[in-house]
Amino acid sequence: MVLGAEVSVEAGAGSGAAIPDIAYVDAGATIAERAALTAAADLILAVQAPPTLPGARAGTAVVAIFAPAANRATVDAYAAVGLTALAMDLMPRITRAQSMDVLSSQSNLAGYKAVLDAAAEYGRAFPMMMTAAGTIPAARVFVLGVGVAGLQAIATARRLGAVVSATDVRLATKEQIQSLGAKPVFIEDEETRAAETSGGYAKEMSDAYKAKQAALITETIAKQDIVITTALIPGRPAPRLVTAAQVASMRPGSVLVDLAVEARGNIEGSVAGEVVETSGGVKIVGHKNVPSRVPFDASALYARNLFNFVQAFWDKNAGHPVWDRDDEIVKGVMLTEGGAVVHPVMAPTA
Ligand code: NAD
Repeated sequence: MVLGAEVSVEAGAGSGAAIPDIAYVDAGATIAERAALTAAADLILAVQAPPTLPGARAGTAVVAIFAPAANRATVDAYAAVGLTALAMDLMPRITRAQSMDVLSSQSNLAGYKAVLDAAAEYGRAFPMMMTAAGTIPAARVFVLGVGVAGLQAIATARRLGAVVSATDVRLATKEQIQSLGAKPVFIEDEETRAAETSGGYAKEMSDAYKAKQAALITETIAKQDIVITTALIPGRPAPRLVTAAQVASMRPGSVLVDLAVEARGNIEGSVAGEVVETSGGVKIVGHKNVPSRVPFDASALYARNLFNFVQAFWDKNAGHPVWDRDDEIVKGVMLTEGGAVVHPVMAPTA
């Protein structure tokens, strides 16, 4: 709207986030069914990219979350009908793109909600409480993986009054953990000093490192009430950080939350979309798409990420965005254009 575009919204699009159609109408949009919108649009903005968009015209740009490694068929289908697919989840981690970074905006909410989900499953209180009927000890929370989600999990658990410790392979997180009032639990060796890629992500670690890390986790985990895992390695399955034996070492009533469950999982025994209870009375929470469990805020932050992206490439004279293939951001996010798959991570599988 600010850009002068005519905006239409799919009927019922906001119902899961408690945003009624009338709110979009009040903001100046029209409401229609998907088929009508798809055929008329020059630019389609979506949350998860639909596997196909029947009726969409060649040259229409689709900005959405594609998870291209897992959804090759969707990318190929978009290329086949000449759509320009732009993946918000491939946004490069550069300063100019920070306000468009959907992984950050959503991970932050996931880290927050993971702690609340743990608290809801936990049959005890988080803060220490001194009452006339006795003292309740503070819950002990251990966070594995201290990226955007992990930092928010630490901050949320601290706000709830828990005693928090945390670990990561990237040594740079040690000070961040301390600054949030939590205790860093770290292996410090040559490998951790080089564990961070230039993009700020973790690398896959050696077997020797993994053995040392497993011993440290075994020792730490047995003393915890709550464990939150968030560890991811871009383009690979998530590292397996917690074994069934380590889960079994926790006392009954303890809760683990696996935020990496959809990328194979950090915890042995976690199941995507389920809360599993072990024979030892320990719960492993594996909710899918955790940001969608805070739907209003997830939607609002994602919408702002989309707007910042589209605005950055909007050509005022043309009245539509122009995707400059030499721009670092466009290079990072463009999957298909002109009937072809153009992204280097999507080299032909044949
Ligand atoms: P992520 O979601 O890829 O991974 C989560 C965490 O898991 C990371 O901290 C990672 O180091 C850790 N991890 C991976 N393997 C592990 C293992 N075996 N054991 C323990 N921990 C393990 O990470 P993220 O949340 O996307 O953040 C990664 C970095 O990128 C952070 O430094 C973050 O501040 C930075 N970042 C930069 C920008 C930007 O500049 N635009 C935006 C967002 C995040």
